[in-house]
Amino acid sequence: METLNSKDPYSPCTLCPRRCGADRTNGKTGFCKMAAEVTVNLSMIHRGEEPVLGGKGGCGAVFFEGCSLRCIFCQNHRITVLTGKGTVYDKDTLADLFLNLASEGAGAIDLVTPMHFAPTVADAVSAAKERGLSLPVICNCSGYESVSTLRLLDGLVDIYLPDLKYYSGKVSARYANAPDYFPAAAMALDEMFRQTGSAVLDKDGIMTRGMIVRHLMLPGNLFDSKHILDYLVSRFGNSIYISLMSQYTPMPHILENENAPKELKRPLSRENYEKLCDYLAELGQTNAFVQEMSSSGSLMIPSFN
Ligand code: SF4
Repeated sequence: METLNSKDPYSPCTLCPRRCGADRTNGKTGFCKMAAEVTVNLSMIHRGEEPVLGGKGGCGAVFFEGCSLRCIFCQNHRITVLTGKGTVYDKDTLADLFLNLASEGAGAIDLVTPMHFAPTVADAVSAAKERGLSLPVICNCSGYESVSTLRLLDGLVDIYLPDLKYYSGKVSARYANAPDYFPAAAMALDEMFRQTGSAVLDKDGIMTRGMIVRHLMLPGNLFDSKHILDYLVSRFGNSIYISLMSQYTPMPHILENENAPKELKRPLSRENYEKLCDYLAELGQTNAFVQEMSSSGSLMIPSFN
């Protein structure tokens, strides 16, 4: 397992598999585009997550700026790449934010893309729990994570909600400049599952512990998506939930970029998405979520700052 810099995990930074070694202190940034200051673009009660998450109160979502993966088609491009519009938080103010979302009625705290700030986020979750936070904490991330960084969250996160985006190294290199995506994500998912164990739902059918792995199907990539499902079902089966997403939307920054892969400029075909849903059922996976094709489009994207 890779180790973190024990003196200051932000300098030189090796928090994600890119291990780019940036000095994120003094306002400098790494590949993830973020310095060490934890920056939140948006916090809100979010009702668009999988139906077992958050219950009637919805999820108290906290959207962090920046991302260490930065896929070229990113649906949250406005906060992962066009950073700089958020608010800076420290450990204590971040704990306040979690507690405020809980007092507004959220049924879970949903950390969205927090891993490049993991040391501070871990301290904030710990502080909020000491001050009475009792809701499940969800870590919603790209899957491209380091095991040593995930260990910082051991015992603090109740539900992991990672993506598993790419199987082929050629595809992940083309779309995210990360040829090592799959082996890194496979190790990360094993660590997440080690921490949470099999999915646990309460008497109302709301998840209190476990893992949901999301896969966003991309146009022209049915073959890669099938490999992802083969892997997830053989490795975890119905111990986890698999969430098969159809909401791919060609964003303006892709449509306007003449060098962007052509297949990403078109929406996902209904026929291919249905084929993939059938394939998942044929594999015997019953703990699964699928989306309506109408989920594709900008309505699924929050109004970021
Ligand atoms: S978290 Fe950011 S700065 Fe740190 S290694 Fe990853 S990309 Fe580089």
